[in-house]
Amino acid sequence: MPEVLYRKWRPQTLSEVVGQEHITQTLNQALKSGKVAHAYLFCGPRGTGKTSTARILAKAVNCLKAEPGEPCNECDACQGITYGRALDVVEIDAASNRGIDDIRELKGRIGFSPANLKYKVYIIDEVHMLTDAASNALLKTLEEPPPHVIFILATTEPHKVLLTILSRCQRFDFRLLSSAAIALRLAHICQEEGISLHPGVDRVIAKASGGSLRDAENILEQLTAYYGENVHLDQAKEMLGFSFDARVEELVKQIGDKNISQGIRIINQVAQGGINLRQFGLRTAEYLGNVLVVKCQAEDVLELGPSERERLTEIASSMSLSEISRAVKLFSEVNSRDYSPLPLELAFLQAVQAEGDLSLPVVEHTLLEHIKEEWGEFIGSLRGTRIDSYLRGVSEPLDLSSDNTLTIGFQFPFHQEKVDNPRYRRLVEEKLAEKFGVSLKVCCALKPEQESRERSLGKGHLVEAALKMGGKIVQSDD
Ligand SMILES: [Zn+2]
Repeated sequence: MPEVLYRKWRPQTLSEVVGQEHITQTLNQALKSGKVAHAYLFCGPRGTGKTSTARILAKAVNCLKAEPGEPCNECDACQGITYGRALDVVEIDAASNRGIDDIRELKGRIGFSPANLKYKVYIIDEVHMLTDAASNALLKTLEEPPPHVIFILATTEPHKVLLTILSRCQRFDFRLLSSAAIALRLAHICQEEGISLHPGVDRVIAKASGGSLRDAENILEQLTAYYGENVHLDQAKEMLGFSFDARVEELVKQIGDKNISQGIRIINQVAQGGINLRQFGLRTAEYLGNVLVVKCQAEDVLELGPSERERLTEIASSMSLSEISRAVKLFSEVNSRDYSPLPLELAFLQAVQAEGDLSLPVVEHTLLEHIKEEWGEFIGSLRGTRIDSYLRGVSEPLDLSSDNTLTIGFQFPFHQEKVDNPRYRRLVEEKLAEKFGVSLKVCCALKPEQESRERSLGKGHLVEAALKMGGKIVQSDD
């Protein structure tokens, strides 16, 4: 995703940061009174402004204009930081390998004075991902920070950060944004960009963004890329998956009726419609949540119309409380990164079968069929890993057992043994999880027809060696 709007509309001052006034006001006060801390920890979900705020703070402490507070964004110091040219502002992504090396280097360099600016500022993103060694190195520097250094650590998972690091930082918790705050920001961007959103579109985007401004801005970009600069409400709803209430309800009904074929049919129709399947999954979870509320006879909290209430009650009566809550869980965990309907199908199949039900093989069957269909494409995705050549043309998925073991059949022992090497097997397993969204164990076997042929041949040394090298038996004299 290009993220053009997101980058262009990154806030450049504390007052432009949306929805985090409890943080920006405190920081502004600290800057004005000269009480800037040496280490900050910015916690919160992605897309809520942590890194943007960190960069603004880096500018504010280094800004060359006279009065403290907001950065001017015009002086050399501010401009250098905005365009990423400032040597003294170092951004480290702890999620990459590079991050660990960076921390090691940082320890050596930290004693030196800043090159050009007043303060050296280290912004360490996803700080919870640092290795133990890197965390300890960081801790050492936090224990005695030189006066010219400021650390800004950011994380989406503060509970994974070392307590000893936490205790040395001033902590700020960034919140998810309210729909109203997001809608307001979108209205501003649209006005400046000459985009016209029909009434209600901003709300639909805000809802789909789940409280992340970054997501909201990216959705706006997607919508305008698709529909131009004049976006209608039904277009937005269609693209974001808010116009399929009837299909969501229809699918939930099939869970109650345990009608597998009809449910799978609905999911595939939805997928072929090019609808955002993750949104569809979430809307299904939401709808099931309403069924749950009705089942608990608390429907007064839902503001339902009479016909809606009737339909929900009917579905609620077809399912037990534990079935409904399990289904809610399954659908809220659906993670469709691409347009494959498979994750939704699996959630549906698991929701339909009662716990411990023996009809479980249905799930494996569907998944295996899917893997078979996509096998060629899967091998294509391995290009550059060296294992692709051991799989291409000589392997096929044979079986999937209930403990998620995928048996891959090989034509030749040579390839089978290669892929069976734990190092390669693990790589295949990782790539399978990436592609199909399910974690599978891999078992390598010879294809059945191959195995019987091997046995009947009684294999001489030469034959065996030739086979191992990928040779084929053209004719045998027995
Ligand atoms: Zn400035």
